[in-house]
This record gives sequence, C-alpha cells and structure tokens, in this order.
Amino acid sequence: MMPDPLQLPVKASTVIRNIGQLVTIAQQPVTGASGPLQVIADAAIAVHEGVIVWIGHDSEHLFQQDSDTPADGITIVDAQGVVVTPGLVDSHTHLVFAGDRAEEFHLRRAGVSYGELLLQGRGILSTVNATRSADAETLAELAIARLNTMRHYGTTTVEVKTGYGLDKITEETCLRIINDLNAFEASPTYQHSRVRVVPTFLGAHVIPPEYRARREAYVDLVVEEMLPSFVGLARFCDVFCEREAFSLEECRRILTRAKELGYALKIHADQLSPSGGARLAAELSATSADHLDFASDADLEAMREAGVVATLLPGCSYTLRSPYPPARRFIDRGLHVALATDFNPGTSYCENMQMMLGLAMSSMGMSLEEALQAATINGARALALQDSIGSIEVGKRCELAFWSIRDYHEIGYHFGINLIQSVLVS
Ligand SMILES: [Zn+2]
Repeated sequence: MMPDPLQLPVKASTVIRNIGQLVTIAQQPVTGASGPLQVIADAAIAVHEGVIVWIGHDSEHLFQQDSDTPADGITIVDAQGVVVTPGLVDSHTHLVFAGDRAEEFHLRRAGVSYGELLLQGRGILSTVNATRSADAETLAELAIARLNTMRHYGTTTVEVKTGYGLDKITEETCLRIINDLNAFEASPTYQHSRVRVVPTFLGAHVIPPEYRARREAYVDLVVEEMLPSFVGLARFCDVFCEREAFSLEECRRILTRAKELGYALKIHADQLSPSGGARLAAELSATSADHLDFASDADLEAMREAGVVATLLPGCSYTLRSPYPPARRFIDRGLHVALATDFNPGTSYCENMQMMLGLAMSSMGMSLEEALQAATINGARALALQDSIGSIEVGKRCELAFWSIRDYHEIGYHFGINLIQSVLVS
C-alpha cells in the first residue's frame, strides 16, 4: 500500500496549514495549546467530511514529507500566518423584516423614550406594518443581503426570529423564508462559506394592533393555532416578556405549550423593567434568557442553577443610550454569557459581531478572552449546539473565521473596521 504523502494519522479531505495563531476556545485541554482560549501558534487542522479530525503544530512531522504534493483528493489551504478562530455565533437576531426605523432613531436622540414610541404605535409595530405589506420575494432578498453582510463579518451560525408578522400567514411566510435561507446557503455558491441558520418563532413579540382590545384572543391564536402548525419549522419559541409586550402569565402559558410541543425555549427578559422573565426562564429550563438588564441577583442565581445561558445584547444599549449590561455580575456568578447582535431595525441595526466584541470589552467589563468565548462557544450554548460548533476541537464541525491579523489581541483594540478576511466552512 502506498504511504499517504502527508502521513496523516487519520483520513482527511482538507488540511489547513500555516495558521499563525489558532484560537481553539477548546473546552478540553489541547496538546501544545496555552492560555484560557487554548491558543496554538503555527498550527494546522485536518478535516474530513466537514468534521475536524486532527489539530496540531504545522511543524510536526506529520506534515514534513511531500507537503507540496498532497495525496489525490486532499485540499490544502494556506492560512498565510493569520489568526483563525471558530466562526462567530450570533444567537439572537430579527433578520426578516421590511422597512427601516431611521426616523425613530433620531426621535430618540431628541429625547423620546423607546417605551413611549411603542405606546404611540411606532417601534415594533411600524416594522410589523412594513413586513405585512412586503411580498415574500422582497423579504427573502432583504434577508439574504443581511446574511451576506454577517458572513463578511465572520458569522457562521445565526439564529433568526420571526415576530414582525403577528398573524398566522405572515409568521408562517417569515418562518419559511428563514428555513429557505438554509437551503440557499447550501447552494454551490456558498459551498465553503455557508452560514447555518437556526429558526425561532417569536409570535409573542408585541400584541398586534387589531388585537389591542382583546389581547387574550391573540395569546389564544399563538397557543392554539400558530404553535401547533409551526412544529418542524422553528427550533425555538421565544417571547417578549415586558410591560409593553406580554405579561409574565401570558409568557408562561405560551412557553409551557411550546415546550409540550417540543420547542426549545428563549425569553426576551427584563430588558426595560423587572418583568420576571429571567425567573420564568429558570422555571421552564429555557435554553437562554436574553437582555436581562433588570434581572435581580436572585434571578441570576436561579438561571445559573437551571443552566440557562445569559445572552447580552450591547447593540441595544448603544442604540437606546441605556446602561450596558453588567457582564461581570453574570460571569462572576458562574453563568455562561453569550454575546449577540440582536440585529433588528429599531434597537440594534447592526449585523457585525465584531462590534459586539468591542462593546463588551470597552463598556461591559469583559476581557478579550471572555468576549471571544461569549461570541463563539457560549453563542453555541445559547442555541444548544455546543456539542457540534463554537470551538475548534476534534469531532466538531469545521466552521472557521480567518482574521486579517497576526495576533488575536488586536481584536477589540483595532476597532471600527472589519478584521475578518473570510470564513471557511468545510
Ligand atoms: Zn431581540
């Protein structure tokens, strides 16, 4: 039998060589790696059928012989000495909508609060009107363009919520568009850069205007009609638990039914006031509770015990000019903290996870290491995907971000520009 010219210990279809710094964020110690992020200098990765099968030093003898003439069928990728991290995971977005809310952004600068805008029928409701009026083709085109922007900024997995339809037909249209994004990404165009899309049903975003005088009927519609019909179209069910949106009891009813039907759960919790959402997330073993600006210490304790991921969304604080979520409160209590964009037209119109990393370090008291974990492995935890993505480890999917830098300490330091060169999904 002819020896494998690369002398790889395992079968591989792709080998990525000459990685200046491989920031693995591995959850288990890796040979030759150091620091809290398990960084390997001068590294290489071998991949087979999309799964990482070997990680090590590029200079190891495995790659010494005939490295310029790999065996047939093995693709060699030269990373040219740059930094490679896991692809970024954006675990909270509202990607499918029409219209924009630039006017509202500037009204807020003139002193009008987000709560007042919601009560005036602006805010989310203006996006609901624009989304209901748009045809499916337009909504899909807009979503694809936004997904492309995310890819260029290093995101390889993104959660996408509905919540701007708020009637059965438009919510279903939006869910189908979200599911179709995965099919679109599987096309040959994106063979090596496809973004994974995780669909979430957020029918309980706000009470739609036609149900304002009979809100219970809308909750009935969500519980009795939408949730059962959308099984299989959405992985998660989310609710906006807030004074201006849905009460604690309404949220409990919706999420309890969703759980019975097999959805995993998420909650927009305690964003504008103490709503009880964080406690409900713990009670129902939700996968994540998101925002949490007003969650109490006891709420955080309950979340930690129930294993609920705390997803923090600094883009909202930036846009609303509200205090940034105090990440240290969460991290020091032992909670897993995820960072996400909350990409939406009203309170965080930003597709860029690097911006969230920067804000986490500049304004939330997070270290670079904590912020990178929050944007990768903990984002994966917030989507219950930590066993397959979010770190670079043998057995995980090969979803990588190539940064145009030589030292990962430039992340957050060199700010306001795109440091991502490309993503590689093998
Ligand atoms: Zn949100």
